[in-house]
Amino acid sequence: MKCWNHEERDAVLTCPVCKKNFCRSCFDCITGRDEPACPRCWQGDVRTHVEQTKFELEKTKKKADSNKRSVIIFPILYIIGLGIILASADQSHNDGMIFLGIIFMGIPSISAGIAWGKDSAKEGKKDGCLVQAFAFLIAPIVLFALGIIVTPIVILSRLIKISTNKRKIEQLQKSYNEGEEQMMSDQELETFIDQL
Ligand SMILES: [Zn+2]
Ligand SMILES: [Zn+2]
Repeated sequence: MKCWNHEERDAVLTCPVCKKNFCRSCFDCITGRDEPACPRCWQGDVRTHVEQTKFELEKTKKKADSNKRSVIIFPILYIIGLGIILASADQSHNDGMIFLGIIFMGIPSISAGIAWGKDSAKEGKKDGCLVQAFAFLIAPIVLFALGIIVTPIVILSRLIKISTNKRKIEQLQKSYNEGEEQMMSDQELETFIDQL
C-alpha cells in the first residue's frame, strides 16, 4: 500500500478522518492537533476553526457594543424618571407625572424581560408548560412594572457582562490569529505536501 500523497512511499498510517493511507512524513509534519490526521484533513480543520472563530468574534463584539450602549443609556433614562417623580412629588394631582417617571425608570428593564422571556419560552415549549411558553409576553411587562428595582440590577449585570465580553474577545482573537497563521491556500498546501 502506497501513500496517498506520495506514490513512491509505503503507507504506514490511516487518517482517522478521510480513512486514506499515508506515509510517516504526512503525519509527522502536523503538530498541535489532538488526533493525528493527514495534511488535507488538518487544513480542513484549520479552515473550519478560523471560520467559526471569526463568526463567534463578530457576534461577541456586537454584544459588547450593545452592552456598552446600555450602560450609558439606561442610567440616563433611570435618572430622568427619578427626576420627574421627585420634581412632581410636592405637587397635587401628580399621578400622571409619577406614572411617566415610572415608565422612564422601567424602559431599560424591558430588554431584560425580553431576554428572560425568550429563554423561559424555549423551556416552556420543551416541557409543554403553557404559562412558561407565553413568558416572552409576560416577563417584559412584569420587569417593566418593577423597573425601579430591576433597572439598577440590569445596569449592574451589563457592567459585569462588558468585562466578560472583553475577556472572551481577547481569547477568540488569539485563537483566530493562531488559526490564520496555520491556514494555507490550496496552492500552498500542495507545495507543502510535495516538500514533505
Ligand atoms: Zn485525512
Ligand atoms: Zn506521504
